[in-house]
Amino acid sequence: MKKLYTIKNSKLHGKGLFANCNIKAETNIVEYVGEKITKAQSEKISDIQLKKSQKNKDEGQVYIFTLNNKYDINGNVNYNKARLMNHSCNSNCDTDIIDNKIWIRSYKDIKKGEELTYDYGFTFDKDDFRDHICKCGSRKCVGFIVTETDWKKLRKFLLKLAKNCLKTNE
Ligand SMILES: [Zn+2]
Repeated sequence: MKKLYTIKNSKLHGKGLFANCNIKAETNIVEYVGEKITKAQSEKISDIQLKKSQKNKDEGQVYIFTLNNKYDINGNVNYNKARLMNHSCNSNCDTDIIDNKIWIRSYKDIKKGEELTYDYGFTFDKDDFRDHICKCGSRKCVGFIVTETDWKKLRKFLLKLAKNCLKTNE
């Protein structure tokens, strides 16, 4: 199968994946590969990564993907090119699990040269959402890497903050 993407420097963050050709919607683009680990191993790795990230913001990113109720995939390996894909608030890809494989798939038609992005699916957490700033630059951008289903919660929280701020300035 022809490779559908190239890896280039991204304006969003670090390197990213870009469409090599026009890609039709519903196309499997790249498999999210890595080490198959149990949920217990997965928790351990997340804890270690969390501690690392508290020391150094650029390290300690977690690349764990849920595969099923028993196993996860740890994609923090060089051969997993999908780990370079950036998040966007206006993404063009999503993920799909087919026969125990995680695929990044286009959910709309993508033009050659466009950056491939997906929603990282981070849930809104009032204590750590600030650690994940979004610079996707899309018109829909909410400023933080938070999954679209949690945007309501995020907006509500930010609004409350803004109101408290006004009060203390009065
Ligand atoms: Zn954004």
